[in-house]
Amino acid sequence: MNDYTLKQLVDKNFDYYKNGEVANYIPALAEVSPKQLGIAVYDLTSNELMKAGDVDVRFAIESMSKVPVLLLAIKDCGIKKVFETINTEPTGFAFNSIMNMEINHRKHPMNPFVNAGAIATTSLISGKDANEKFERILSFMKQICDDTDITLNKEIYLSESKTGDINRSLAYYMKGNQMIDEEVSETLETYFKQCSVNVTATGIAKLAAVLANKGIAPWNNQRIISEESATIVKSIMTTAGLYDESGEFSVHVGVPAKSGVGGGLMAAIPNSYGIGVFSPALDKFGNSAAGIQLLKDTVQELDADIFQ
Ligand code: GLN
Repeated sequence: MNDYTLKQLVDKNFDYYKNGEVANYIPALAEVSPKQLGIAVYDLTSNELMKAGDVDVRFAIESMSKVPVLLLAIKDCGIKKVFETINTEPTGFAFNSIMNMEINHRKHPMNPFVNAGAIATTSLISGKDANEKFERILSFMKQICDDTDITLNKEIYLSESKTGDINRSLAYYMKGNQMIDEEVSETLETYFKQCSVNVTATGIAKLAAVLANKGIAPWNNQRIISEESATIVKSIMTTAGLYDESGEFSVHVGVPAKSGVGGGLMAAIPNSYGIGVFSPALDKFGNSAAGIQLLKDTVQELDADIFQ
């Protein structure tokens, strides 16, 4: 595998954007051009980054933020506290569904990668106020993506906040049932901000490489997270990383992955590769339409399906 092969895979899969649509429930995301596709692959064996297509275009991290924020919550409170607050079961429902908490009389959100669980995760981040909590999240994202240019996209944040009533309903439902105890409106604003951070496929590949490399940044050999937290997060990515498309994705692609409605996808292949993909048109589950096809071809080309 090299940059040339990767470029051929980008060209081959580019037109799959026509099978999807850019997220339109957030006005600022609806303005993004769907005609973009890029992939970055961090190879842990050669310690090299391969790139093709729109890898340095900035886009909103959205639900992929649930990965670094979960890692930071584990650093702040420990594995026990985090998973006493949030379960680790896949839901089979859409990412913003309230169904499982209601129908099953759950006392905990189902997993950290559906919105309810992610909002509960955000409530566990340390900091004296909402501002400090978000600044800590931002600086952790910069560190784990090895990207000092990550910033908050204010337009997307305001748009998220303005249209965030389903997320508000999830958060207040959890507060009303004693599932979260932090100040709800501040936690929600921090959650909207963490979703509105601008990243690149290159930075996401580096984040995924840290997970694949058992918590150590391969570019400088420094440990960023514990080996145990890297293992746990990869496992949840396998069962719940792509919402109600997680089962199908595991069967057909076969690697731990996480998506976001900004069109991003990350995949962490244990001891081998960290991959970041970007293409903003989404399938009906909210996952990148061309991104999934490109990731599937790349995993096949790399012979990296972890279940084979
Ligand atoms: N900000 C989005 C939301 O909360 C993130 C969802 C996603 O990427 N799936 O609805």
